[in-house]
Amino acid sequence: RANKLVIGNWKMNGSMESNHALLDGVLVGLEQAGCKAVVAVCSPFPYLAQVAGLLKGTAVSWGAQDVSAHGQGAYTGEVSAAMLSEFGCRWAIVGHSERRAMHQESAQLVADKAEAAATVGLTPVFCVGETLAEREADRVQSVIAAQLAPLFAKGDDLVARTVVAYEPVWAIGTGKTASPEQAQQVHGFIRAQLPASAKSIPLLYGGSVKPDNAATLFAMDDIDGGLIGGAALVAKDFVAIAAA
Ligand code: 13P
Repeated sequence: RANKLVIGNWKMNGSMESNHALLDGVLVGLEQAGCKAVVAVCSPFPYLAQVAGLLKGTAVSWGAQDVSAHGQGAYTGEVSAAMLSEFGCRWAIVGHSERRAMHQESAQLVADKAEAAATVGLTPVFCVGETLAEREADRVQSVIAAQLAPLFAKGDDLVARTVVAYEPVWAIGTGKTASPEQAQQVHGFIRAQLPASAKSIPLLYGGSVKPDNAATLFAMDDIDGGLIGGAALVAKDFVAIAAA
């Protein structure tokens, strides 16, 4: 198996001062741990330039938490993929459940964002996941299939350049992690849906990943790493997860 991929999603957290301390701690910690995982952090937009500067020349890459589906023009408040790539951005999270739920992002819009990101060479981190009500109604597979459908409709080439993150909504920020078996079941389903040329793209798990559960999650066949929220804000926890 390829090295694990561990991406920190800082969400709307941080300050110039705390970012600096956090990244210093992460860089030193990864070095000390001899970490072999591919590691990245996704900060709020205003801090991307600071993060780029602090990570320059290191093995840690960086990304944005969202990206516009549009190329340029009259889209007040939006940030284009080309702007991000111009100064070294590597990843763009698209379709995080917080954006789908709080900003009414449709499945089609999320796929359009993934395409916009990939067009300029960013890797979309395409988030999918069911709510608790959907799980209880036995709708996990149909919900995830519907979230993936507009991405798949754009063609196998785009899928092959995408990372998919399974983040069950009920596990995000709740301390309720999916069990390794529950997560593997969904990851196996996602893998089975992928076109042949994209079978080996990384599938990340996200939702209350912590140092004490990361290793068992990452040991599952179809879990290639994690998308980390709260624990990515604590250097020693993020390092422990990346080294798990
Ligand atoms: P937590 O790790 O805080 O549960 O957040 C997961 C997440 O939403 C990452 O994108």
